[in-house]
Amino acid sequence: MSACTALLYSMPMRILFASSEVWPFSKTGGLADVAGSLPQALARLGHEVLVVSPWYSGLKRAEPFWIGDIEVPFSGFFEPAGVGTWEQDGVRYAFVGHDFFRRDSLYGYDDDAARFSLFSRALPQVASRLSFTPDVIHLNDWHTATVALVLERGWHLPPGFAYLPSVFTVHNAQFQGEATLAEMAWWLRLPDSIDRTWLNRFGRANAMQAALGTATRVTTVSPTYSREIQTPGFGFGLDASFRSISHKLSGILNGIDQTAWDPQTDAALPVNFGPESVHKGKAAARSLLCSRHGLDPARPIVAAISRLADQKGMDILVDAAPELSRLGLSLFVLGSGDPGLERRLADLAGQDPNIAVVLGYDDPLSRLVYAASDLLCMPSRFEPCGLNQMIAMRYGSLPLVRATGGLKDTVRHLGNGFTFEDASVDDLVRAAREAVSTYGTDKWALMQETALGEDHSWERSARQYERLYSGIVSG
Ligand code: ADP
Repeated sequence: MSACTALLYSMPMRILFASSEVWPFSKTGGLADVAGSLPQALARLGHEVLVVSPWYSGLKRAEPFWIGDIEVPFSGFFEPAGVGTWEQDGVRYAFVGHDFFRRDSLYGYDDDAARFSLFSRALPQVASRLSFTPDVIHLNDWHTATVALVLERGWHLPPGFAYLPSVFTVHNAQFQGEATLAEMAWWLRLPDSIDRTWLNRFGRANAMQAALGTATRVTTVSPTYSREIQTPGFGFGLDASFRSISHKLSGILNGIDQTAWDPQTDAALPVNFGPESVHKGKAAARSLLCSRHGLDPARPIVAAISRLADQKGMDILVDAAPELSRLGLSLFVLGSGDPGLERRLADLAGQDPNIAVVLGYDDPLSRLVYAASDLLCMPSRFEPCGLNQMIAMRYGSLPLVRATGGLKDTVRHLGNGFTFEDASVDDLVRAAREAVSTYGTDKWALMQETALGEDHSWERSARQYERLYSGIVSG
């Protein structure tokens, strides 16, 4: 690295970070964890970061100062939206308030594409209202993807925003944000020439594809996933688009917030523990979990903490459950999602005393389960990065995972966990059998020590994003 480049990396930048969910204010999955941690890590490196997110009903962890309405170019006209600001841990947050976000859930509505078109169109207006002219705009997933297109074309933007460099991160290529071209053009106030842009995928608007073509750089949340999405099995129809932008596509592994996920201080644990007291701490957590849920504390526990969705391969775990129980394992599942899977899990728990299931989303319980379990199972069909396996290692639970995406990049078979190749019951059970035969041996102790010592801090990833931004800001 030349002296000049080194100097450039450390130059403070103004980064606008856009996300549809941000921990600790809103969360449905890993995107919120990233949006909560990466901006803070960038701020610690000396950068000025503004995080913009919707203000959903029932958000409690912030009391924003509402500075009045902005006029968002939306649906042919200008739509008023509120702007609230909040500061925490060196990061400035701006929330966009609108009727669109006063709902029971974050997503899952017929008008989601319209809701997040408004949010996307609001982003530059919010930043401008706060006199924050960024050096770079970091967009995340389909919800904010169309901003890249608008920036590249310079349409209806406040002064200083047209042609700003952008980074678009794909956290999950399955959800792409689709609508008719006419609808999307109307919401975003795009000119008639729209059907010639990257927005157009076979005659329909596709927000993610728009960003692939127009963002200055595209990243995914692990190096393996950045390669996988260029293949038909993982690209959800966009694999050719991903291949065509491979020159500007890279993978940067997520980290975890090692302060928020720390068994030495975690208030949800009966006994806090560090690497030296791992046995005592895990035994106390196991005893509490087992007594609460009627499991035999003498059996090793394999846990899953997950959305119950096809992506996560939880149907494979359900099919494998009776065999895992026969192998001498207890199974604990915490999750919610697919009603069919929820029913099957509840049935399993009713039939087998070695299987316990809690349906729902429960952060404190998840912490107890990470600490109490010996293995954390993720039979994912695809996994862009995955945070659970990194959290599990930090709590001394060894990942038992399918070698895909970020799981492949973070878990080493017989090094810090157990991996298997196919998303199949046979492969999962084979790896589980190996885990059971390793349990209680010196090898297991060594693997646990290795897992506990892994560095999954955000600092390393933040440095990589910093380099990426620097390259396009100076370019
Ligand atoms: P996703 O694809 O769902 O974003 P990640 O592995 O990236 O998966 O992130 C999942 C995050 O959500 C982790 O912090 C995990 O602990 C948490 N999580 C998932 N399901 C539950 C649940 N039912 N209760 C509590 N936390 C959960």
